[in-house]
Amino acid sequence: MIIDEKKLDKLAELAIKTGVALQRGQDLLLTAPIEALPLVRRIAVHAYKEGANIVTPLFSDPEITLSRFNHATDESFDKAPSWLFNGMGEAFDNNTARLAVVGEDPLLLSNQDPDKVSRVNKATSVAYKPARERITRFDINWNIISWPGQAWANQMFPDLNSEEAQKKLANAIFKASRVDTENPIEEWKKHNANLRKWSDWLNNMDFAYLHFNGPGTNLKVGLADGHEWMGGASMAQNGIVCNPNIPSEEVFTTPHCLRVDGEVSATKPLSHQGSLIENIKVKFENGKITQANATKGEKVLLKVLDSDEGARRLGEVALVPDNSPISQTGLLFYNTLFDENAACHIALGQCYTKCFKNQSLTKEEISSQGGNSSMIHIDWMIGSNKIDIDGIKQNGDITPIFRKGKWAQKFN
Ligand code: ZN
Ligand code: ZN
Repeated sequence: MIIDEKKLDKLAELAIKTGVALQRGQDLLLTAPIEALPLVRRIAVHAYKEGANIVTPLFSDPEITLSRFNHATDESFDKAPSWLFNGMGEAFDNNTARLAVVGEDPLLLSNQDPDKVSRVNKATSVAYKPARERITRFDINWNIISWPGQAWANQMFPDLNSEEAQKKLANAIFKASRVDTENPIEEWKKHNANLRKWSDWLNNMDFAYLHFNGPGTNLKVGLADGHEWMGGASMAQNGIVCNPNIPSEEVFTTPHCLRVDGEVSATKPLSHQGSLIENIKVKFENGKITQANATKGEKVLLKVLDSDEGARRLGEVALVPDNSPISQTGLLFYNTLFDENAACHIALGQCYTKCFKNQSLTKEEISSQGGNSSMIHIDWMIGSNKIDIDGIKQNGDITPIFRKGKWAQKFN
């Protein structure tokens, strides 16, 4: 295999011990592209060594996905396997941990009929609700890691041959996930402590608004009443401390869905379910997007915005310094897990209901405090080394948070 097997094994071990933090006696539900089988097999070994009850892998295959677009009846495009997502919901209610391996072709569906793509996305979003709700509520410990997929690697490095491209992507994933170090598990402990320092500072400051300023961007983002900043390791409702994303460089919270105003320009292309959306520029008024354009993929973007009532409002705001390891690779990954950890970002749609100081709010309380609800959650990047961010308190006091894309505060 062209990929370094020792590092692949370290990634699998990190995913189980630090990512999911799988506990003895827990079941594990795993999803992955079929290409990632070598990694999934290593994950299963580490899971059972940690005392997993049952590891259940579910694989997807790009050719089977495309055969639907090429040969299925028209009715197929409004269908989704609800039974599967209901089953996932049931599994999570029974304390099953969740691990997702990603790495699919980011442009798999780019040549397909956008109308069919959006119908599939919509049907899947609706059916996926039982699983999505439990994940966004953080009922159970979960984690996402990446496999260096061949099509993904080819897109990132079009000038290299297939083997070199995959090797280069694998090494970028290992570096960003900190598995190129002697002891990745220890490295993640240190990294988590650093992220904790920033989220604690932001929670102490208790800003009412963030103000983003830079080329094509002048945006005020109100934060939800009683919001809490989080980042790195955090405790799921089942009491298990896990790292949902590997890599992860962000601290994030829930914005107020009625208090976002101004204009904002994306700083990286957005790869959304097989389509690429470039140079997004939107205008917010009273929390809602009232104007939206993109130089490429605008149709897909507009369809996304019309998914439901909450799709035009924000569900997340996240801070990532421009000097983070992923940003420093200078690579565009065409993959949200990486690109969102290279730059400050906002997400359209569903909020993380765990990002509140009071962890036992009802749905109605979350929405009256400004938490958005939607069947979508789509991150897109608005940070760069040209962005300044200020925090504005309720009394109007202004504190610099980022200058030229880096943290503006120093701790001793
Ligand atoms: Zn995020
Ligand atoms: Zn997000």
